[in-house]
Amino acid sequence: MTTTLEEITALRGLRCRACGALQPADERYICGECLGPIEPEYDLDIFDAETLRVDIERGPASLWRYAPLLPVAPPTSHWPVGWTPLIEAHRLGDALGIERLYLKDDTRNPTLSFKDRPVAVALARALELGLDTIACASTGNLAGAVAAAAARNGLRAFVFVPADIEPEKIASAAAYGATVVRVNGPYDAVNRLCGRLADEYGWGFVNFTLRPYYAEGSKTVLFECAEQLGWTLPHHIVVPVGSGALLTRQATAANQLRATGLVPESHFHIHAAQPAGCAPVSDAVLDNWRPVEPVRRPETLAKSLAIGAPADGDGSVKIVRETRGSAASVSDDEIREAASLLATTEGVLVEPAGGVVVATAKQLASRGVFHAGETVVLYLTGNGYKGGPEETALGPVIAADADAFRLAYEEVLA
Ligand SMILES: *Cc1c(COP(=O)(O)O)cnc(C)c1O
Ligand SMILES: [Zn+2]
Repeated sequence: MTTTLEEITALRGLRCRACGALQPADERYICGECLGPIEPEYDLDIFDAETLRVDIERGPASLWRYAPLLPVAPPTSHWPVGWTPLIEAHRLGDALGIERLYLKDDTRNPTLSFKDRPVAVALARALELGLDTIACASTGNLAGAVAAAAARNGLRAFVFVPADIEPEKIASAAAYGATVVRVNGPYDAVNRLCGRLADEYGWGFVNFTLRPYYAEGSKTVLFECAEQLGWTLPHHIVVPVGSGALLTRQATAANQLRATGLVPESHFHIHAAQPAGCAPVSDAVLDNWRPVEPVRRPETLAKSLAIGAPADGDGSVKIVRETRGSAASVSDDEIREAASLLATTEGVLVEPAGGVVVATAKQLASRGVFHAGETVVLYLTGNGYKGGPEETALGPVIAADADAFRLAYEEVLA
């Protein structure tokens, strides 16, 4: 017996962000009226806050505990994606001058990045639609997430990546059995190529034809933070920005948590973190909220965030402004230093995108953005084992004898 969507979620339809038209949740992925971006809308009034909270708390230890607030029914067999730890970070907090600092450790997902979340929701939708192939344009992590999810569900996967991404990411996507297509050019060129292929091949492109569903998976990061903080919102979250899907959906998530009565009203600020070599959103925020200008040639260590023309770029600026948040753009040196500070104070190893977030928090703290007693959550979205620290000084290699060690020890001390 299959459960209908209506029994599981409160999905009302897909609302166009440009013209406001509400449309049925059928195969369309852009507005039937104006071709604008569409996103799920829910009947949140149907929930009784207390019942919903109890249902969630009894749910699986995965993002599917929030199924009532997602646009698809959970697939019958699923991975434990999400429900990652929220860790108190006193030592890092002391180093940065932040009193109540937490790490949302999303490096601990099945393929070691938060991309497993949007993919879980997009894939559930692909299965509902009966698709046999999923595909994506990726800056690195999405490729692995799509490849693994496809493998797990017996689907084919095609992943398109810029040819210069970290070899670990290409290799893992290939190991999961995906066809990895390396494209000469920056992510935006890969993205445009996929946009052209999407209709022609009829595959489920997770960040095009499934994007309204894909983006919804990102809400679950904040759902979890709120639940883990005893059903309150943190005062500040620091979010890395690539396409802006993650950042913008944190605002959607906060609104849904408030509208269902799961959390009380409180002040909540979203801060954007980007690398200086590709900071279209942060630069727009810092330049007095001007429109986003595309970055033609992104150059940064944080390849996961190297999206010069972000789909949700202006949307991100708007959300940061509405939540009275802020932004920073940080250099490659700051990124390296911050990732190393995190690893050596908290034992959490991140890829450069995590360094961008920690370095941003450091800048915001020194600008006095966080006040005493406020909770600050850093979003750590990608694991350092997948192309992390590039030039960490390694210890000496010695012969297997104690004298060799004594000699090396003196040298290390000296
Ligand atoms: C993709 C990615 C991001 C940014 O996500 P968007 O939704 O594209 O803004 C952040 N961190 C890591 C590690 C990523 O792979
Ligand atoms: Zn429209």
